[in-house]
Amino acid sequence: MSSEQCYCAFCKHQRRIYTKRHITPINMLLSVLAAFAIMMFLWQEFDPRVLIVFAFCLMVAEMFITIRWRVTLPCPHCGFDPVLYMRNPKKACEKVNTTIDLRRHQASRWLKGKNPMQNLTPRSRPSVKEELKLREASRVAEEMLSRQLSEEQKPTLMNSDSH
Ligand SMILES: [Zn+2]
Repeated sequence: MSSEQCYCAFCKHQRRIYTKRHITPINMLLSVLAAFAIMMFLWQEFDPRVLIVFAFCLMVAEMFITIRWRVTLPCPHCGFDPVLYMRNPKKACEKVNTTIDLRRHQASRWLKGKNPMQNLTPRSRPSVKEELKLREASRVAEEMLSRQLSEEQKPTLMNSDSH
């Protein structure tokens, strides 16, 4: 089969992708038949130009299959694109963000397809109290460090003065 079920690497929803990226012998056979049909239609007899028509049919088939594969690859639910992720992870992140933002702001989009946030584990954030404590601790540490530095600098300055 040219398509199969898979799970999105980001939102973990099941979806269908086309696994076929290039033409198969069956597509070649169909291209031969199409070329012969076009030949009979245009010239009503055998014509060597059928080879050009055949090459054109092959090109169209290959283009169609490659484009179909590429277009159906991004997840329809969250917009995650594995090929883009391999090339440029930052851009892939931006794409997922814009897709999720779009779905957030358009009520009608929630109704179609699956919720991309459904299977995501929430990122744990420190509470406000914990954050204040952390900030206070880092402030105290900074003060202590600056005091230490100024104390260390004084004797060296005096030493350099005495010489
Ligand atoms: Zn997804």
